[in-house]
Amino acid sequence: MPSSRTILIAGAGIGGLTAALALAARGLRAIVFEQAEKPAESGAGIQLGPNATRILTGLGLGETLRSRSVVPEAISVRAARNGQEIVRVPLGAEAEFRYGAPYWLIHRSDLHSALLEAARDHPDIVVKLGTRVEDFAPHSHGLTAQVIQSRARNEERGIGLIAADGLWSTLRTRLGHGKPPRFQQRTAWRAIIPASELGESFRAPIVHLWLGRDGHVVHYPVRGGNDINVVAIVNDRWQSEEWDSAGASDQILRRFKADNWHAAVRGMLAKASVWKRWALYDRPPDWRWGTGPITLLGDAAHPMVPFLAQGAGMAIEDASVIAQCLENSGIDTAAAMRRYEGLRRARTRRAQRAALSTGQIYHQDGPAAFVRDAAMKVMGGERLRARYDWLYDWRSD
Ligand SMILES: Cc1cc2nc3c(=O)[nH]c(=O)nc-3n(C[C@H](O)[C@H](O)[C@H](O)COP(=O)(O)OP(=O)(O)OC[C@H]3O[C@@H](n4cnc5c(N)ncnc54)[C@H](O)[C@@H]3O)c2cc1C
Repeated sequence: MPSSRTILIAGAGIGGLTAALALAARGLRAIVFEQAEKPAESGAGIQLGPNATRILTGLGLGETLRSRSVVPEAISVRAARNGQEIVRVPLGAEAEFRYGAPYWLIHRSDLHSALLEAARDHPDIVVKLGTRVEDFAPHSHGLTAQVIQSRARNEERGIGLIAADGLWSTLRTRLGHGKPPRFQQRTAWRAIIPASELGESFRAPIVHLWLGRDGHVVHYPVRGGNDINVVAIVNDRWQSEEWDSAGASDQILRRFKADNWHAAVRGMLAKASVWKRWALYDRPPDWRWGTGPITLLGDAAHPMVPFLAQGAGMAIEDASVIAQCLENSGIDTAAAMRRYEGLRRARTRRAQRAALSTGQIYHQDGPAAFVRDAAMKVMGGERLRARYDWLYDWRSD
C-alpha cells in the first residue's frame, strides 16, 4: 500500500475501525494495527445513540447492524427500593423521527465483528492483527511507525498516525501526556443472562435503569431479545487495568441488600452465573491531544465514565470528523489533525463532564434522592429526553 495517502491507526477497537472505514469512504487508505491476535470476545451490551447510529448507517453498516440490534421503546427509570417507575423516557420510533436516526442496543462483539468484516472487505483498508505499534517518528514526508509482530520489528510509513489505543494508551504517553487515568471509585459488574430465564418485563425492548443506594443497575435485551445485558455499578475501591476480570456472584449480590433493593432486581441479579468486572476510570479533559501528524481518538483522547453510554459514541463521532478533516488536507496532515482536535475538544469535554454528573445524580441518597425523583416525575419523560438533544441531534456537517 503506497504511503502517500495512507493513515496508520493504532488499535482496532470501535474507534480505530470506524476511523478506517470513514477514511476509506473519503478516498484515503488506512492500515489498522491491533496488538491482540484475535478480536476480543467481550460479553457485554452497548447502547448506541442516534449521534452514533447516523454515522454507522452513513458508512453502509445500517442494514447489518439493524438486524443485530434491538430498538428500545423507552428508558424506564425505577426506584430500587420499591420497584416503582419514576419516569419513562420515550425512544423507539419517536426518537428516530426526532433525531433522524435510531437508538440501538447491541452486543459489543456483534458491533465489533460488523466493523471488522467491513474493514477487511474494503480494498483500501488493511487490518494487521497481532501487531503492536511501539513508537513513531515524524519526518518531512509524514511518519514512520515501529511495529512489533511475532517479535519481529518492522517499520510502516504513512502520512499520519491516529492513536486509537484505548484508555491505557501507551502512544498517548509517548506523546508526552504523563498522567495515568483517574480512578472513579466505582466498578461496573457485567453479565449476560439468557432471556428465557427471566420474566416478560425483563425481555421487553426497554432500557431499565434502577436507581438505588450507593449503586444503580441497567439492563436491556440484546441479540434479537435472546439475551439480557446487565450492568450493576457500585461504589468500590478495587482497581485494575484489565478489561475482563472475573467477578464472584456472592460478592456482587452482597451489595444489593433486601432493605434497599426490590426483589425483582435482586432475583434477576441472582440469575447471572458469570460476572465480569471493570474498574471505572476517566481523565480530566485535555486541551492538547496530539502533535505534528499524530493525534488521539476515542478513549485514548477522552475516556469517560459510562453513565451517559457515550464513550463509543464519541469515538465514532471522532472517526467521522477526522476523516472529513483529512480528506482535503493535501500535504498538510498536521494542520488537518489540529483542525480535528479543535472541532472535537468542546464536545467531548461536555460529554465527559455530563457523564460524571449523571453518575453523581444516579448515586444520590436520602433527601437528595427524594428531590431527584420528584424532579424527574415533574419534568416527565419527553422533557427529560429533550435535555439530551445536544447529544443525539449532533451532525458532523
Ligand atoms: C461498563 C461500561 C459500559 C459502557 N457502555 C457504553 C455504552 O453503552 N455506549 C457507549 O457508547 N460506550 C460505552 N462504554 C464505553 C466504550 O466501551 C468505550 O468508550 C469504547 O469501547 C472506546 O473505544 P476505543 O476504540 O477508543 O478503545 P478500545 O475499545 O479500548 O480499543 C483500543 C484497542 O487498541 C488496542 N491497542 C492498545 N494499544 C495498542 C498498540 N500500541 N498497538 C496496537 N493496538 C493497540 C487494544 O488491544 C484495543 O483493541 C462503556 C464502557 C464501560 C466500561
